[in-house]
Amino acid sequence: MSSQTLEFKTEVKELLHLMIHSLYSHKEIFLRELLSNASDAIDKVRYVALTDNALLGGDDNWKIRIKINKDDSSLTVSDNGIGMNEEEIVRALGTIAHSGTKDFLRTLSEKQIKDNPELIGQFGVGFYSAFMVAERIVVISRKAGDAKEKAVRWESKADGTFSVEAFEKDMRGTDVILFMSDEGKKYLDEWEIKSVVKKYSDYIEHPICMDVEKDKKTEEQILNSRKAIWLKDKSEITTEEYNEFYKHVSHDFSDPAKVIHFKAEGTREFSALLFIPAKAPFDMFYKDYKIGPTLYVKRVQIMDHCEELIPIYLRFVKGVVESADLPLNVSREILQSNKQIEVIKKNVTKKILDTLTDMKNTEFEKYLAFYKEFHKSLKEGLYLDHQRKDILKDLVLFESIKTESGKYTTLKQYVDLMKPDQEFIFYMTGTSRAEMESSPYLEAFKDKDYDVLLMLDEIDDFIAPDLEYGGKKLKSVTKGDVELDKNKQSDKKDAEKKFKKVIDLIRDELKDDIKDIRVSGRLKDSACCLVADEGDMDQNLERMMKAMGQAMPQSKRILEINPTHPLIESMNAIFERDKDHPILKEYAKLLYDQALLLEGSKLKDPVAFSKTMSKIMVENAKVV
Ligand code: ADP
Repeated sequence: MSSQTLEFKTEVKELLHLMIHSLYSHKEIFLRELLSNASDAIDKVRYVALTDNALLGGDDNWKIRIKINKDDSSLTVSDNGIGMNEEEIVRALGTIAHSGTKDFLRTLSEKQIKDNPELIGQFGVGFYSAFMVAERIVVISRKAGDAKEKAVRWESKADGTFSVEAFEKDMRGTDVILFMSDEGKKYLDEWEIKSVVKKYSDYIEHPICMDVEKDKKTEEQILNSRKAIWLKDKSEITTEEYNEFYKHVSHDFSDPAKVIHFKAEGTREFSALLFIPAKAPFDMFYKDYKIGPTLYVKRVQIMDHCEELIPIYLRFVKGVVESADLPLNVSREILQSNKQIEVIKKNVTKKILDTLTDMKNTEFEKYLAFYKEFHKSLKEGLYLDHQRKDILKDLVLFESIKTESGKYTTLKQYVDLMKPDQEFIFYMTGTSRAEMESSPYLEAFKDKDYDVLLMLDEIDDFIAPDLEYGGKKLKSVTKGDVELDKNKQSDKKDAEKKFKKVIDLIRDELKDDIKDIRVSGRLKDSACCLVADEGDMDQNLERMMKAMGQAMPQSKRILEINPTHPLIESMNAIFERDKDHPILKEYAKLLYDQALLLEGSKLKDPVAFSKTMSKIMVENAKVV
């Protein structure tokens, strides 16, 4: 292979540009990223060698080396890990693996990054962060099992391109050589490197070595203590250490919101060090978002994201779980049906939910901050985890017409404040609080001082119908018949009798569009509204399913009219005078169109609507 020059993928170019020009103040994290990659590479080769020991060629003296060369201003990080061949290096160091990165980059302006440089941490930037301190980077790598002539040399100045060529390398593994920019030169210092390693990478399991001058002699020193932080006693660990470890496992640049560190003893022994991040990662709901803590067995990293250890709705939890009881060569298939894993998952889930419950009860403001970031994920639990529904029910919060915008009530608080004869927990789903608040569906509830939960997440439509709290079921205010005032039942009957003929006329005129028409118990100021029948789908859910591309049959809804509204009286008066007056049919159509607009739906025939409106306005103008 002769040398070839290739272009970085667009998103890498954009990312590099942001990195190099960002004011991110912790530029030293580049070393953490490189050491982390080196350590991962060793974990990988060690794992593969469990079943193919010949691959190692006898070299299992795991080691990461750092070399400072002041003559050419370079810093080298070497490992004897898995290495990369040409194809792998082009993919790994020419693109960004996370598919959402491209979209996310687009949403950020350069100014946003300048003002909040920590945002760049969200990308899991890894290797590329080295361009914050280096003007040129050379990577030489030889893949485990490949001959020395099959090594590859990669080089880039972050100018939009990189080159790759064949190379020779005596040892398996990877050398990353940074030629430092002026800003990076401060890292060509022994003390600086020692302190950065101590701060960020002390717990890395493999020795990080550097040649240092001592008594005029050069000797190799190990810079990290290599203690697995999750196996240590809580009292031995400082907040700072927890935070740094969190950043290592999560690739987040901010401190975590909560640390959960525990050991389970007894028949199933395991240790877990888990973290709840402060901010939701942008790609949390992307398809290739990796879920689950890193799994270790007897200090050996088995898998960096073990999704079998955690329920999917806790996808935001990061960390490490170590078990002594699993076999070292445990495979995905084994994990999926392993009793031990099941027990760990159960324990881990309980611990996380207990921590959240505790946080909600004792540090509500903190819980609120957590909830604002992760509510969508947590709510999935109500849908998926029937076993823990009771715990989750107490963890979800909702806005309501009695809370201010952005403030929440719990289901318990709602139920505690229910009216003595209130049968249901009322709720409404929608996409905007303001729209919901001014909708006709809430008129009677507001008038009679009933609270209604206002639900804004898509998933609410799926969880609410099956939810109950304290024996009270949830009921949508846009569905079924509503009568808050039992004494008004007879009024309703009277109104139905009084307006029967008009009602029949409207029903007949709208027979293709509506399921039925009835006198409403939920309206106060508006003339009419459309509601779903008890067993049918809520209009919000139906709209959402359609937006997601689901083929949905158009379900007909019930038109409710307000008997106290002057419009209904007027229609009745016209009917009494002339039951065949053509305007009655036009009014019926307009009533329906109004109801469609009020619920936020599109009109079937906007041209006809506007023609009739104009005609009526002209007629009205004659009498003004
Ligand atoms: P991440 O580590 O989050 O995947 P990086 O940008 O740091 O992102 O690295 C990209 C990829 O490059 C890694 O996933 C890995 O496949 C490869 N890589 C980086 N450094 C090394 C290394 N020292 N040895 C082997 N592969 C490496």
